[in-house]
Order: sequence, then structure tokens, then C-alpha cells
Amino acid sequence: MKPAPFAYAKARSLDEAIGLLATRSEARLLAGGQSLLASLNMRLSAPRILIDINGIAGLNTIVKTDGMLEIGALVRHAQAERSRDIAEHAPLIARALPHIAHPAIRNRGTIGGSIAFADPAAELPACLLALHGEIDVTGPKGKRTVKAEDFFKGLFETALGPQDVLTAIRVPAATAQSRVGFAEFAMRRGDYAMVGLAASARADGKGLADVRLAYFGVGATPLRAKQAEAALADSKVDAAIAALDNDLDPPDDIQATGAAKKHLAKVLLRRVARQHLETRG
Ligand code: FAD
Repeated sequence: MKPAPFAYAKARSLDEAIGLLATRSEARLLAGGQSLLASLNMRLSAPRILIDINGIAGLNTIVKTDGMLEIGALVRHAQAERSRDIAEHAPLIARALPHIAHPAIRNRGTIGGSIAFADPAAELPACLLALHGEIDVTGPKGKRTVKAEDFFKGLFETALGPQDVLTAIRVPAATAQSRVGFAEFAMRRGDYAMVGLAASARADGKGLADVRLAYFGVGATPLRAKQAEAALADSKVDAAIAALDNDLDPPDDIQATGAAKKHLAKVLLRRVARQHLETRG
């Protein structure tokens, strides 16, 4: 199908993008276009105007400051995959990136677009949740920072307002104590996950502290499995797997039944528990 007619404007600055969002009704931002254009072509969305943010300078950098790694909204997935800073300071994100779609899509798709789109089966929202990540947003009232746990509100619904631009995400830079694990099941390599798990923890003596298990593909938003986290912190892998019966209640979807997804979630937890003692990098 072809999209409904729409106008196009290329913003050269953040102020210009926010001004256009404020003055034009039914406007949508265009980043990599990999999700947006598909939804226009399928007529799932029919904005009157697309505001292209690809010409805004300064949104495609990856910078480490004050113990945090900041990734600009316009950093492409492929750029992130090649980044030594991400490999070193955000190894969970480095592990997740190759699972996102296919190389052609990763060449255009952006980090900001993935977070703003908030597909419930997407990898990066779960990584942000697992890593105590935060999201920088600029809107008509200025800049604010939203924690990942407060950002994903519902199915494709986030804390972004209609005139907001997501400008960057930030995660604490990994330390020698950081431990991460990542695994997902997808029908084919590059498909959205049926179920996935992004995990982080801190080595604490012979055990783990601050265990965070963020599942995706099991609900409307990425979800933490908090009872399983507590069991895993006590090194009780079997108990953590059993706790998923309380933590998760995945709905049926076109890919699998809820029961099958819960089974897969348990398999993933055992896999990730094995990875969990790996060090960064
Ligand atoms: P766009 O398509 O340009 O925008 C998506 C939405 O986010 C739009 O509503 C847009 O207005 C909004 N938006 C974009 N940037 C901003 C911003 N800076 N501030 C505010 N709002 C913004 N993704 C996965 O995570 N995992 C997968 O396995 C996966 N598989 C895919 C398979 C296929 C076949 C396709 C076509 C896509 C797949 N994707 C997958 C999606 C892909 O990663 C997209 O690139 C990503 O979701 C959106 O990024 P984008 O830059 O293309 O955003």
C-alpha cells in the first residue's frame, strides 16, 4: 500500500523541530524511518506532516562523562554496533544490537527511534530498564530526564509528549564489577523477539547484587521479574526460574501462546544465569 499524503519539513535545530511540532497539527518526527514508514505504508498512521530530524547537529555522538555513557538519539544501530565505547562501557547494549532486525535496517534505524517507538518486543527498551538507564527529552518547556522505569507507559506508549524530542539515552558505564547477560528467542534471526531477556548485576563477593532481569515480548512494556531477581541474587537459579510463575503473565499473541512464552522465559533465564558471571567487554 501507499501512505496517505503528507507534507515534509527538515528541521535544522532542536528548537525548529519543537516549533514545528507545536504549530503543525498531526505531526510526526522522522528519524531512521524504519518503523514509521512501514506504519504509514500500512495506513496504521496518517500524519499530516513528517518532521525530519536527521539534519539536527549533535544528536549522533557517543560520549562517556562522569561515569555515564551517553548515546545520542540519532546514533544508528550500525554505528552503535561498531562503537568501541559501547562495547567497553555498555556491553549489554553491545550484545543486544546484533539481534535488532537486519543490517539494512540497522544502517538507518536509530537508537532514539527504537526507544521512542517502544515496541514491546524490542531489545533496547529492556536493556535501558536493566541498566538503570535514563532518557533525555526536550520539549516546549525545556529539557528533562526520565528514568527508564518511568518512561515505558503502555503498548507503544511512553512518557514523550506530542511536542517532545528524545535527544539521548544514558546508562552507567560498566565497571569491573558489572555483569550482564542477554538472550532472546525469535522465529528467524532479525525478527522481533518472541521473548527476550536483558540482565544486569553487580558482582558482590561470590554472589551478585542489584540483579535486574528485564524481559521483553511478554507484555505491553519491558517488565522486570522482581521475585526472580531476588532469588538469583541468592544464587538460587532453580528458585529464580520457579519465581517467574509469579513475575510474568504473558498474553497470547500472534507468535505464541502465553504459556509457551512463559516456558521460553524460563529457558532464557537459565541461559542468562550461565552468562551472568562474565565480566564486561
Ligand atoms: P522511525 O521509524 O523514524 O520513528 C519511529 C517512531 O519514533 C515514530 O513515531 C517517530 O516519530 C518516533 N521518533 C523517532 N525518533 C524520535 C525522537 N528522537 N524523539 C521522539 N520521537 C521519535 N526493532 C527492534 O528493536 N528489534 C527488532 O528485532 C526489529 N526488527 C525489525 C524488523 C523489520 C523488518 C523492521 C522494518 C524494523 C524492525 N525493527 C526492530 C525496528 C527498527 O529497529 C527501527 O529502526 C526502530 O524501531 C525505529 O527507529 P527509527 O530510527 O527507524 O525510527
